[in-house]
Amino acid sequence: MDLKNLSPAMTSQLAAMVEAYISSSREKYAPQAVPLTDTQRAAMSPFFSSSVLDSARLCLLRGTRVPNPSMYSMAKMMGISNLPDFSGMAAITFVDVIVSHQDFTDALLFHELVHVAQYAQMDLKDFSARFVNGFIQGGSYEEIPLEKQAYALENRFSQGSGEEFSVDDEVRQWREAEKI
Ligand SMILES: [Zn+2]
Repeated sequence: MDLKNLSPAMTSQLAAMVEAYISSSREKYAPQAVPLTDTQRAAMSPFFSSSVLDSARLCLLRGTRVPNPSMYSMAKMMGISNLPDFSGMAAITFVDVIVSHQDFTDALLFHELVHVAQYAQMDLKDFSARFVNGFIQGGSYEEIPLEKQAYALENRFSQGSGEEFSVDDEVRQWREAEKI
């Protein structure tokens, strides 16, 4: 099925389900999540505001993985394939709670903190709508603009020669240019 044929009502219903998944996952993992270590904070502080670094919490899962949303069975019945496999991802960010299936490298932490910065500049409803619309328009998880920005900035960080930049500014500029 061509996702672009989804009715606006169905699209907003999907966005509402994504929003519920993010918010219930955040509640589930927040109790076992911890602040950044001093070392992590020092590595990230040239790029992120202290409000992002203060609010972020990390949860490292061992022997268990984040389950995919229960709405997937319904989405599959609707003929939507290539849904993002959250349980297979390195890490997933639920607002300010970063849940990882593997040890945090600086690059992984950076990528997920970009998402924390994105969430901080929009409310959860807005983020969820952009996530779903990005998936529908782009046709895959990798084409979701929120994700493309996180990968682009992560690459800039990983390849950077110590260049400092403000992720908050980058997110603001993308939003103003309506790229996300
Ligand atoms: Zn990401």
